[in-house]
Amino acid sequence: MTPHPFAKRISVSLALLLSMALTACSFLNGGNEQNHHSNVWHLTVLHTNDHHGHFWRNGNGEWGMAARKTLIDRIRAEVTESGGHVLLLSGGDINTGVPESDLQDAVPDFKGMNLLGYDAMAVGNHEFDNPMSVLRMQEHIATFPFLAANIRDEATGERLFKPYTIFTLEGLRIAVLGLTTDDTQKIGNQENIQGIVFTRPEVEAKALIPVLRKQADVVIATTHMGHYKNGQHGSNAPGDVTLARNVRGIDLIVGGHTQNPLFEPDRENGTWILQAQDWGRYVGRADFEYRDGQLKLLNYQLIPVNHTQSVMNADGDKVRKPVGDIIPENPAMLALLAPYQKKGEAEVLQPVGYTNGRLMGERSEVRFGYTNLGRLIALAQMEMVDADMAVVSAGGIRASIQKGEITYRDILSVQPFGNGIAPALLMFVCSSDRDVAVAMQGRRPCQSGRKMGINKAGRHRY
Ligand SMILES: [Zn+2]
Repeated sequence: MTPHPFAKRISVSLALLLSMALTACSFLNGGNEQNHHSNVWHLTVLHTNDHHGHFWRNGNGEWGMAARKTLIDRIRAEVTESGGHVLLLSGGDINTGVPESDLQDAVPDFKGMNLLGYDAMAVGNHEFDNPMSVLRMQEHIATFPFLAANIRDEATGERLFKPYTIFTLEGLRIAVLGLTTDDTQKIGNQENIQGIVFTRPEVEAKALIPVLRKQADVVIATTHMGHYKNGQHGSNAPGDVTLARNVRGIDLIVGGHTQNPLFEPDRENGTWILQAQDWGRYVGRADFEYRDGQLKLLNYQLIPVNHTQSVMNADGDKVRKPVGDIIPENPAMLALLAPYQKKGEAEVLQPVGYTNGRLMGERSEVRFGYTNLGRLIALAQMEMVDADMAVVSAGGIRASIQKGEITYRDILSVQPFGNGIAPALLMFVCSSDRDVAVAMQGRRPCQSGRKMGINKAGRHRY
């Protein structure tokens, strides 16, 4: 929290000089002088996370980078006008989720982020859905750094990304450190992460934070580790709450990965933790005051970007209506992104099949029970590699397919991650009924010494 004494002296003397020089004009312009007096800064941190290819508005006219640009420009103008400063950060996972983006390696998304003026981004696990060469191409396009202190080359131990960056805003020094969930080691595409090691974020942060505190007045971590309430991360790697509880000296964590909106910021061990759901639905806005070595959160909000809600019209039909004022789309952003959207649409609208019923792939369906779409995918995979059974991660099924013609886009929306099939020889060793029941999370434990299988109809066979 305490600024470097040398810097404090400089900013005090600078403030004195500036206030002497500007006294006359500040009477004339009527404002903009607050930061030059009494060693006070106003810092607004804007943030998004888990963009997942949503550069364009959706079919209901919601979200999209063009409306986000208008919103962010408005906030920048307001903050700058009153003498404050803005930092725009991303909690990562820019890649994967919308076919029009995926087919173009998220180039429109990174170009859009440049135009929005992002200052830094955490590297997310989905950045590794593509080979390293694509990620390096994206990094090359970006006019802001990709930060990750805990991603290293396995052979040399060298970091593969810049661990942190330091901004100086009119004398206020802000360090931004990047951290990525070490779950990427097991959930990332294994082909693309060969030779890469994801070390424990907490260990890297413990080593770096004291170094950063010497160089900066404010220390921010932009992370892609997830927010787990009260640190209850279950079988996932520890997230932002655990990081804040175990590593002292981080003023603010701007997170991602769990895709939950934190309408109220979390506060752990003196650290603020923020997250703005996903897909650019919200822009998070945190207004801070830095005074006498203390960072104080004055205001926090998640600002919706053109949300709609389902309402009944006069004819009794369900229609979607905007919630609140519509944010107009920025023309420069539209001009940048429209050619990409057009190109992507043409590619994904090719019909490839037909279904006579709805294939169920909603999160609330596939993650809690057996569905026709889950079974179809499993059967297709079994047929492809001539296997006796298939296990499909419900988390990898991301959408339903409606009755009627099926396009390439529908299929890519259901399975956007480009996963491969991993053949395996499976053996169960039953030490007790309970172990097997727990392992399979099923209701019918097999007994020791008995064979258990799953037949092609997806039913248990004993
Ligand atoms: Zn993620």
